[in-house]
Amino acid sequence: MIECPLCKSRRIYKSWEDGNYKIYKCTNCYVKFLYPIVKVENLYDSSYFQKWYIEFYQERKKYFKKILKKIKKLIPSKGKILDVGCGIGILLDLASEIGYEVYGQDISDFAIEFCSQKGFKVFKGNLSNLNFEIKFDIITMMDVIAHIKEPVNYLQKCKKLLEKDGILIIKTPLHSNYLFFIAKLFSFTKKSKSILHLPVQIYHFDKNSISKLAYFSGFKILKILTIKEFTGKKFNLLNLWKFFVEKSIIVILKKYDE
Ligand SMILES: [Zn+2]
Repeated sequence: MIECPLCKSRRIYKSWEDGNYKIYKCTNCYVKFLYPIVKVENLYDSSYFQKWYIEFYQERKKYFKKILKKIKKLIPSKGKILDVGCGIGILLDLASEIGYEVYGQDISDFAIEFCSQKGFKVFKGNLSNLNFEIKFDIITMMDVIAHIKEPVNYLQKCKKLLEKDGILIIKTPLHSNYLFFIAKLFSFTKKSKSILHLPVQIYHFDKNSISKLAYFSGFKILKILTIKEFTGKKFNLLNLWKFFVEKSIIVILKKYDE
């Protein structure tokens, strides 16, 4: 019997399928998840980063800048930042330019090599298995959590790595019922797979379920907001719909006092 990977409840039902993939919803914590999980090998190689990040370096940097501006009042203005899933280090560049002491983590050899060459201190491997000798004032996690098999453990690890008043910033795609509906409409094409980032994205969060995840992991929410998703610069009529339906959730979290 399938159980909810976040809260272990068995009160779940199949909420979406397209012939290839099935998405279940938990009625206890509201999370939607892909089941069974599909293993994708060697995803984060040089061509992946070239296509999605190197190509859009300036645009993505601007996008991160906008996010930081929106949450500026809630986060320490200096200190140590760890960017989990740092990729080619776009956020590390930005944060170091504005005076933070920056550190990165990634599972990709390419990403680690890329950031090391820029002179950043980066850690390679799954966050859950890494040992750090320092603690951080801020941990950022941009488009990572939805890909993690055990997100509660993952966030609990972040909690351990944060200073007493440390802040965790999570960005993840907002996959609303509306987006699932659109994906269903396109299920006769290959589009629905890309709309829902299947099968690499395991979890499909909305504001309710990401709030539950934060609570299960020992965090309280300082702020939760919705922003337009990053869609790149190659804008045309065919991808105009993205402008209206693709959104992201930003959550600013603080540890519950122990
Ligand atoms: Zn659940």
